[in-house]
Amino acid sequence: MSRAARCSLGGMNESLRTSFPTPSHWIDGRAVTGSGPLIDVVNPADESVIAHLHEATADDVDLAVGAAVAAFPGWASTPPQQRADVMRRLAEGLQKRSEELAATITLEMGAPIAFSRQAQVGFPVASTLAAIAAVEQFEWTETVENSLVVREPIGVVGAITPWNFPLQQLVTKVVPAMLAGNSVVLKPSEMSPLSARMFAEIATEAGLPNGVFNVVQGTGPVVGEALSRHPKIDMISFTGSTRAGKSVSGAASATVKRVALELGGKAAHIILPEADLDSAVTRGLAFAWANGGQACGAYVRMLVPEDLQAAVVDKLRTAAQEYVVGDPAAEATRIGPLASETQRRRVDGYIRRGIADGATLVTGGPGRPEGFETGAYVRPTIFSDVAPESVIAQEEIFGPVLVVIPYTDDDHAVEIANGTVYGLNAAVTGAEDHAMAIAMRLRVGQVDVNGGRHNFQAPFGGYKQSGNGREMGRAGLEEFLETKAITR
Ligand code: NAD
Repeated sequence: MSRAARCSLGGMNESLRTSFPTPSHWIDGRAVTGSGPLIDVVNPADESVIAHLHEATADDVDLAVGAAVAAFPGWASTPPQQRADVMRRLAEGLQKRSEELAATITLEMGAPIAFSRQAQVGFPVASTLAAIAAVEQFEWTETVENSLVVREPIGVVGAITPWNFPLQQLVTKVVPAMLAGNSVVLKPSEMSPLSARMFAEIATEAGLPNGVFNVVQGTGPVVGEALSRHPKIDMISFTGSTRAGKSVSGAASATVKRVALELGGKAAHIILPEADLDSAVTRGLAFAWANGGQACGAYVRMLVPEDLQAAVVDKLRTAAQEYVVGDPAAEATRIGPLASETQRRRVDGYIRRGIADGATLVTGGPGRPEGFETGAYVRPTIFSDVAPESVIAQEEIFGPVLVVIPYTDDDHAVEIANGTVYGLNAAVTGAEDHAMAIAMRLRVGQVDVNGGRHNFQAPFGGYKQSGNGREMGRAGLEEFLETKAITR
């Protein structure tokens, strides 16, 4: 890492240290320090502690839920257009503080600063505007013969989010939940809690009534579990690993809450024989390694016709040279550290496992990249000749590790693509008709055909163990609504 880059990161650290001491939580429109055990927030690029947060106690959780319960009737009866106006001011607030938000996210989870601006903050602004558009077009009542069917908010929504896109993951839940008229208690990931606190301040500045949006900080097994069990929370919307999602479902079952789960993925990118290989490979690698591969929808399995595998691997080797690992504070960096040391060890373990299981190492490999003795850095890695049933082709790695899997024909490609416990998303590159026919056969919630423009209105969510429910667009709004039929 260059000296200049380290200095710029140090500068960012210093300015944020003064902005982010305790207090930890945001309850009823104000900051609350809390008294629970302290959690360190660590910058994964240099392992420095950038903030301390108190884990919420049972009393803190009750306070936040109580504020949400009290705020619910007033907010639920606020006309949808007024709720949308508040959310529009919130989007403006996010935009106005986008530099600060991007820097914060880079510090708390290591995303390269250019990517933080473009995706980590750009997507939440776009998603908020898309959710507003969805609510403005929404029909709140419908007449079905002699029944009036009305849609109403559920009540208090508990939201639990991961660290990989800390702001985007919370926005895709809490914005539609609030637009629908619910009040919210959010528990962000304990690894990336700072951007969530900033969001709370921005929402309050936008005119959100006190108590409609609350944040409690802490770990999953303590605070996430407390929300999942809480008798006064009506719904849990969870994004995270399939393992934790199962636990949330179990805890929520005692009170028969609605549970929406956005879980893991293992997306296949099927390159068809007629595809333009140069663009398919470049785009495929970009979607595999964006955010250091820490994306539930990353295109981590590249499925290629077996007679084209050698050509694809050559192109991948060249394309991979563009992805130099670097300091996330540096503008040119495309791959920063992973979000934590735990994650680094986990990903490194999978790279070693791939080698042990006989996959061919194309680039990268185990250990830290040269010159990075500290920080959660791994070597971006590509394997070819990967067996579809092997561990690295089946389990979610959540790092910059791409596996190339050869296939014989369309049926074989579809069988491999559908052959994991996951079913979140996939991509197909080739002639439009051919690619569409393959897309129809995939057991996933979203398919990208030939790099279709990102659509913030299109529903996103999983089949199989990738979860249930949908976020974004009209489906993402309906997720947070009850349905009542009044028959005359
Ligand atoms: P994680 O499951 O470890 O944690 C996610 C959140 O759940 C955190 O806030 C955590 O504190 C909390 N949590 C953990 N255990 C809990 C429990 N027992 N009860 C209640 N809450 C608990 O996941 P992560 O490591 O933060 O994020 C990575 C995972 O998230 C990956 O599996 C990824 O695929 C998934 N993810 C899915 C989507 C999607 O839209 N489907 C999007 C992003 C990330």
